[in-house]
Amino acid sequence: MAIARESADIEFETPLYADRVKIHPQRIAGRFRRIKWIALIGLLSAYYLAPWLRWDRGPGAPDQALLIDMPGRRAYFLGIEIWPQEIYYLAGLLILAALALFLATSIAGRVWCGFTCPQTIWTDLFMWVERLIEGDRNKRIKLDAAPFSASKALKRTTKHAAWLIIAFATGGAWIMYFNDAPTVVRSILTGQASVTVYGFVGLFTAATYLLAGWAREQVCIYMCPWPRFQSAMFDEHSLLVTYETWRGEPRGHAKQGQSPEGRGHCIDCGLCVRVCPTGVDIRNGQQLACIGCALCIDACDGVMTKMGWPTELIAYDSLSNQAAREMGKPARVRIVRPRTAIYVATIGLVAIVMLFMLSTRALVELTVQPDRAPLFVRLQDGRIQNAYTLKILNKDRVEHGYSLSIRGVAGADLRVVGYETDEAPTLPIAGDSIGTFRVFVRVDADPYRAPATSLEIVAQDRHTGETSAYHTTFNGPGG
Ligand code: SF4
Ligand code: SF4
Repeated sequence: MAIARESADIEFETPLYADRVKIHPQRIAGRFRRIKWIALIGLLSAYYLAPWLRWDRGPGAPDQALLIDMPGRRAYFLGIEIWPQEIYYLAGLLILAALALFLATSIAGRVWCGFTCPQTIWTDLFMWVERLIEGDRNKRIKLDAAPFSASKALKRTTKHAAWLIIAFATGGAWIMYFNDAPTVVRSILTGQASVTVYGFVGLFTAATYLLAGWAREQVCIYMCPWPRFQSAMFDEHSLLVTYETWRGEPRGHAKQGQSPEGRGHCIDCGLCVRVCPTGVDIRNGQQLACIGCALCIDACDGVMTKMGWPTELIAYDSLSNQAAREMGKPARVRIVRPRTAIYVATIGLVAIVMLFMLSTRALVELTVQPDRAPLFVRLQDGRIQNAYTLKILNKDRVEHGYSLSIRGVAGADLRVVGYETDEAPTLPIAGDSIGTFRVFVRVDADPYRAPATSLEIVAQDRHTGETSAYHTTFNGPGG
């Protein structure tokens, strides 16, 4: 598709859409491929095993170490239990994860994309299955071009069936993080799970199948926002997959045993392009589509070794090192730099703040909602009365009793509806629940003249002494 635009003296065509060119990555062995397999196996194992870890939280509480309990409105991370009101802990974890990603990117470029991103892991797995069933690059290209036949249909059906099984077993496994893993797996396999569970398993399965089986590199190139702004974390010392142009050019074919002296080391074999999962030619420089998987390094190292020439024509290296090497100067890896030091310091700061907040986390939390209409009432005995609705959260697993007190309004009297006769009642709240109470605060109208006064209501645990205070307002007629 193209848009043609004409003006008085200019005419040009700007293509807004380019057809997808199907990529058939070739199998390659090497040290980075090994690292990628180790990362894939390690991360997938952790993903599968994590929901099966148990954590004893006492009777009545889920014993799954990592669980997001939507109906119970809780998130459990080992010994930490997060209520909806404490969502800032999750925000803190996300900030830590983002800062760690910034740090890794500033040190080693797109190491996240190339080795640990779920899209990369699943695409790698799907490509491995594809290769197993349809063969390596040349066989797949031939199969694509071949007319329809029983053998082609069998291979395609087997491949898609295998992809769907993997998508179900891996993508669908997400559901284990939102339910008790043994229970939900049993209920899915025996056909007794709820429609919601089957719906989400279907959704995750379809997403995995489509993204890893069909969309593949299109996700990295067009859908993912991360490549668009990650270059802000790079500097000349970041380690990136780079081609040593000064050594490789002028490129040209060469025979095995030929000397590299007096010529470019790139023999223009194209293997680095054929193994690339995103179809990039790294010899053209840094590109958005390069996910930093380093398979082209394995490819070129293999070629150079066969030629008997120095390896690392394509290498994980920094731009400053490349420039130094080109001038014959020594190269060195600089990991400690102002940028990385700032990331480490910020990670440390956020971690310390989170640890402090977690270690001082209160088991009682009070929230107060003052009545808005009317703001106050004048009682028959002349006193001014304000009404409030209190919610006291008991985050412990056992029942606690709480007392209430007020500060800020001199001579004020506090009464809890249902406990009117008791001046200092103990309000019982069951474990892991919220108690709601109506409260009246009354003050003699004579000395009280202010239209609004700051009022603090305090809930105190009778047993532990722990308190939670809430600032609100006491309203009066003024004058
Ligand atoms: S693999 Fe190495 S030698 Fe072959 S084309 Fe790529 S850079 Fe050149
Ligand atoms: S150019 Fe190299 S590092 Fe970049 S995506 Fe392709 S194979 Fe991976």
